[in-house]
Amino acid sequence: MNKFEQLGLSESLLKAILDLGFENPTEVQEKAIPLLLEKDTDMVALAQTGTGKTAAFGFPVIQKIDVNNRNTQALILSPTRELCLQITNEIKNYSKYEKGINVVAVYGGASITEQARDIKRGAQIIVATPGRMQDMINRGLVNISQINYCILDEADEMLNMGFYEDIVNILSTTPDEKNTWLFSATMPAEVARIGKQFMTDPIEITVGAKNSGSATVSHEFYLVNARDRYEALKRLADSNPDIFSVVFCRTKRDTQAVAEKLVEDGYSAAALHGDLSQAQRDGVMKSFRGRQIQMLVATDVAARGIDVDNITHVVNYQLPDEIETYNHRSGRTGRAGKLGTSIVIVTKSELRKISSIERIIKQKFEEKTIPSGIEICEIQLLHLATKIKDTEVDHEIDTYLPAINSVLEDLSKEELIKKMVSVEFNRFINYYKKTRDISNQASGSERRERDDRDGAPRENNNGGATRYFVNIGSRDNFDWMSLKDYLKETLDLGRDDVFKVDVKEGFSFFNTDPEHTDKVMEILNNVQLEGRRINVEISKNDGGGRRDHNGRSSGGSFGGGRSSAPRREGSFAPRREGSGGGGFRSDRNSAPREGGFGGRSDSRREGGFSSDRPRTEGSSDRAPRRSESFGDSPRPRRPRRD
Ligand code: AMP
Repeated sequence: MNKFEQLGLSESLLKAILDLGFENPTEVQEKAIPLLLEKDTDMVALAQTGTGKTAAFGFPVIQKIDVNNRNTQALILSPTRELCLQITNEIKNYSKYEKGINVVAVYGGASITEQARDIKRGAQIIVATPGRMQDMINRGLVNISQINYCILDEADEMLNMGFYEDIVNILSTTPDEKNTWLFSATMPAEVARIGKQFMTDPIEITVGAKNSGSATVSHEFYLVNARDRYEALKRLADSNPDIFSVVFCRTKRDTQAVAEKLVEDGYSAAALHGDLSQAQRDGVMKSFRGRQIQMLVATDVAARGIDVDNITHVVNYQLPDEIETYNHRSGRTGRAGKLGTSIVIVTKSELRKISSIERIIKQKFEEKTIPSGIEICEIQLLHLATKIKDTEVDHEIDTYLPAINSVLEDLSKEELIKKMVSVEFNRFINYYKKTRDISNQASGSERRERDDRDGAPRENNNGGATRYFVNIGSRDNFDWMSLKDYLKETLDLGRDDVFKVDVKEGFSFFNTDPEHTDKVMEILNNVQLEGRRINVEISKNDGGGRRDHNGRSSGGSFGGGRSSAPRREGSFAPRREGSGGGGFRSDRNSAPREGGFGGRSDSRREGGFSSDRPRTEGSSDRAPRRSESFGDSPRPRRPRRD
């Protein structure tokens, strides 16, 4: 008797498990399945994604369904469309030998009438996102008054996303006698409240989180100035040529902007966030799974449920608002026993968060410095040499060899090697030798200690506050009050967080506490006002209202780095509108367009794509995405991972 048989699973499930190749039950399966099969009970299970929890509730629910009854008997609620579809597929796989079971996925962004039609045909199991489910209930398109089982998957995430009301409403239309199984990675107060309100004596199980990564994920942070965040991301990518990563941003807007910049700079990247259509998201995920995308830039919400193995790095481009979310993020790597790295790009005002995260993950971060240009060149060069060595020769090339040999016949082996790698190396060295060192000088640990001690980092001596210069003023119809309101709203700050607002004709000054500095710089520098991009800089003046001549950040000079200069020029450039088409920002030349081991910039565009232009399968079939040629021929920047 194998271990799955011992759990009490039916023949048809065991057969499906054999097909799936599952050898042993995971911890959550071992704990939950026998209990759920034996008893009609409520359950609270603390388990993360990747622990096998879908099967932990999926197997029992399938086995308990009455296939001869076409009524809806089980409802599974999940936070996102991706996860909803993933669960539906898993349940279909598990129940493939169970004749007569119908599973229907109900989620936003797809035709509600088609979903209603599928349900009408008889769906014993509905897997739904809360918003769409509520919509269907309101329109009388679904009847869940007879269900026996309700499963809340990733309950913490659903509540995080603001689905509390929907969940309460949905649960209120289900019978009291049903069993509720709640799966959650964490147990915040709201989840506990749902449990208390809707569950009776739930059995509680907790599983050691396979993906908390204690064994397989290492955690690193890189301390940078806020304005260098993007440059740091590129360097991290450049110093990991085989990176296959999820890059987390806090907002949809940042996600879109970072992905666009990466694509523009020749990386194979795409954005994944809630503003994309379902087809776009599917396209992005397909390309990511197929490794045509090396850097998937995602919001936390959109990345939930992504189940892709072999992710080498999780990059926290920005830390999440809720530090608990860090666990979810880092759990995307280090799966299935593989090693992974979770990287945090952090500014000094966020350093204290690192200590808090360490307490949560019970692991220490390693502080690292962003590699210098020279280090990156060396890494890339060695990577290239290894790649040449490992390249399998396609003998189609034999036809061309005589001609090639005659071109190169005067070169010695040494010269040939030197020239060959220089073709690539020159571009990189040319870019990087002009850039400055962006790693933050002071040691992060020192700062952390100091910040912890002081309670808050001090950015300047302006009464502890940061003063900004911003290029909008009375000419833009602002007075101090309306500008203050505008800033509070745009920056999502509280009533007293913006102060000392001083409006001049073409520009203004204002203050915030230093803890908001990064936010102000990042958000405001990416906002457009009536076609004009807002430009905010940290002022050196003390609140007297005069613009500092340079208007430059107190955090250091912009000098040397070519990456910084175009950003200034681009301040008033038109911004692309929405997520469709449109031009890219004027600062797109800031990164290694001419730099990286890539070909011409226009050809690099073929290498990656932004989320508004997902590659279809057709397009990837039509033209090889990457040419492996050296020299000036068009070659997208990043080598494809085969
Ligand atoms: P989940 O936590 O449900 O998202 O599952 C993560 C992944 O593990 C999915 O790809 C499942 O198909 C897989 N899986 C679930 N149970 C097992 C098992 N007992 N053995 C091997 N893989 C499993």
